[in-house]
Amino acid sequence: MTDLPPLRESLEAHGLLAKKSFGQHFLLDLNITRKIVRLAGPFEGRAVIEVGPGPGGLTRAILESDAGQVVLVEKDPRFVPLLTELDDDSGRLTIVQADALKVTEAERTTGPTHLVSNLPYNVGTALLIKWLTGPWTPHALTLMFQKEVAERIVAAPGDDAYGRLAVISQAVAEARIVMHLPAAAFTPPPKVASAVVHLIPKTDRPDRETLKRLETVTAAAFGQRRKMLRSSLKTLGGAALCEAAAIDPDARAETIDLAGFLRLAEAVK
Ligand code: SAM
Repeated sequence: MTDLPPLRESLEAHGLLAKKSFGQHFLLDLNITRKIVRLAGPFEGRAVIEVGPGPGGLTRAILESDAGQVVLVEKDPRFVPLLTELDDDSGRLTIVQADALKVTEAERTTGPTHLVSNLPYNVGTALLIKWLTGPWTPHALTLMFQKEVAERIVAAPGDDAYGRLAVISQAVAEARIVMHLPAAAFTPPPKVASAVVHLIPKTDRPDRETLKRLETVTAAAFGQRRKMLRSSLKTLGGAALCEAAAIDPDARAETIDLAGFLRLAEAVK
């Protein structure tokens, strides 16, 4: 990677400007991208999928690592020529020009696969839900989100940020914030600060049917988060459902922990 031009020069050489509609805020400092890759790894020869490589700052750091296979999924076709320049002829790199929401990851890599991404903010949550609850499960995920979304993923009962995203994410994965970045670290800077979340899918994940019910229960409970559960869960069984799950019907959603929501999901059968 050392004989490549600096990222800023590559962008200028290809006449590329960031597009707002694609959520493009680039990391051009390789010290930062290398740190993210260190937090994501070691990969020990496993595959890595990077969504939204853009000009390739994170990609360069991934290619310097011990990743055995590197698959880039970029929606904006303008970046493909620039990304092609990163191919070091080791046969590790594949560039897929596609919408990551529509990609079938299982067809793109073999074996346990890490996901590493500075996510486009407009589809970040949708992609996370796809990777956490879909049919394909990554080995680990290291993802940059807006700070506010990162806090919603790792929130605990009683936190202002505690809600559906925390319950669903923590039902299937261990999640923690591993890095904070100010808006000024990006080109162009977004309006808000960012944070990297590292998630490791659990081995004892609820099955897909239970997860679906968990989504239904949390949607109802947090849809009216100031109401007592007997009322917000009325259409699903109200007080009787709460009692079947050993939950106080007068409690509010924000005080119920993951185990409580899992009992509610079981009881809603
Ligand atoms: N990884 C680069 C970096 O850190 O400098 C760029 C990150 S930028 C926040 C998000 C990237 O995701 C952009 O390159 C954008 O074109 C791409 N992108 C946006 N929506 C996408 C989608 N649905 N599927 C794949 N890539 C997408």
